Amino acid sequence: MNRSVVAVPRFCERSPTILKRTPLKTFESIDLFEPLKRALADQDYTTPTPIQAQAIPPAVAGQDILGCAQTGTGKTAAFALPILDFLGHEKPRAAPNRPTTLVLAPTRELAIQIGDSFRRYGKHMKFHSALVYGGVGQAGQVSSLRRGVDVLIATPGRLIDLMDQGHVSLRDVQIFVLDEADRMLDMGFLPALKKIIAALPSQRQSMFFSATLAPKIRELANSLLFNPVSINVTPKKTSVELIEQRLRIVRRENKVSSLTELLLGKDVTRSIVFTRTKHGANALVKKLDKSGIQAVAIHGNKTQNARQKALHAFRSDQINVLVATDVAARGIDIDGVSHVINYDMPVEPESYVHRIGRTGRAGADGIAISFCTGDERGELHAIESLIGQKLKIENPEERFEAPSGAPKSRGGGGGGGGRGRGRSGGGERSGGGPSRGRSGGSSSNHSFGRNKKPGRHASAR
Ligand code: AMP
Repeated sequence: MNRSVVAVPRFCERSPTILKRTPLKTFESIDLFEPLKRALADQDYTTPTPIQAQAIPPAVAGQDILGCAQTGTGKTAAFALPILDFLGHEKPRAAPNRPTTLVLAPTRELAIQIGDSFRRYGKHMKFHSALVYGGVGQAGQVSSLRRGVDVLIATPGRLIDLMDQGHVSLRDVQIFVLDEADRMLDMGFLPALKKIIAALPSQRQSMFFSATLAPKIRELANSLLFNPVSINVTPKKTSVELIEQRLRIVRRENKVSSLTELLLGKDVTRSIVFTRTKHGANALVKKLDKSGIQAVAIHGNKTQNARQKALHAFRSDQINVLVATDVAARGIDIDGVSHVINYDMPVEPESYVHRIGRTGRAGADGIAISFCTGDERGELHAIESLIGQKLKIENPEERFEAPSGAPKSRGGGGGGGGRGRGRSGGGERSGGGPSRGRSGGSSSNHSFGRNKKPGRHASAR
């Protein structure tokens, strides 16, 4: 196969503080709560991924973690297993409206995925989890909080809303996880994060995950973590190396027919098609439908139910084409995506790497095809300079048409999938508001209550 292997940008610089550890060979060799080991065995997970091998032992011992890792590396289990281990051994009693552990995620989809992971890994244990995210009514979330929650998984905007209304207090949080910190900042959540962090007790364990460690993110990590163990897992090289990347030169008026022809090919078994705007995604689904191709759109204007239904239909093979915008596709983890098609070139070059990473997952081959019109050559150049190589052109005999000359706005006319600051991610709000002072001085230092592994310390921050 003719592969165009991307030189993956260095998401995280190597730093001298990275611990060199011998990766653990099996989960059996980690001292984990027994019901967790059974759940892992049920799922045929025998070998920890590098982030798991490096994060789980210190996290179980109570240390703070600074993890530089992307989705697809197994980072969810890297924080979920230590949390569940803590709950299993310590059996803390969650008071109404006062969760014991908190996981913050940037999008509803990711929050739901994390919730599913907790349920899978904790299937042989008793614990209460709750999900809190925007775009749906809050009544159900409020009543779950009232019942007492061991693991609260939340997006920042709705969490702040519920804190402001007195439905949740973070004073009892003993373990705090901030997942995908870089995306949170991209989405304008920094003020909300500051407010949430200020409401946490100073005595706690914190785990911080981000795909990049740009200065702003490092600053946030420093404000949150106490003497953390730093772990750096570069994006799963194999997954990107397995992606065959091609560029197709298309004329504006031929985009739909070119896509239709491509999707009807027998090797295109499950594909995600990216459009720049929400409006463009809806329009494309209709056009494909006219050609007899059933597709479903997922973007921020869809209700939470509609998005979950679309994902379910796609996962369960009822529909083989998902048309998505960048924001809606964040954090989506679906195995077996044979093709990612950039129907519109991404406006932000970083989105290209996120988009193509939706295929070639779990060690499978994947193909990424980018449609490029004369108008989109600027985006192409930005991508090529980010990834440090030229994309292989499928049809070099074709020439780029002359640009239309129309001015193009970043982020697209229909309000779609760019990475603008303050973008809602579909119903989320960025919270905001001035930071309250730290609650400080909480007496809930859970290292005192921990008999089996007294090492779990609490960050004195
Ligand atoms: P994550 O990066 O947490 O989104 O995980 C990516 C995918 O890898 C998910 O489908 C997980 O279920 C799967 N996974 C996580 N850890 C392991 C493991 N140790 N062995 C096999 N699969 C795993």
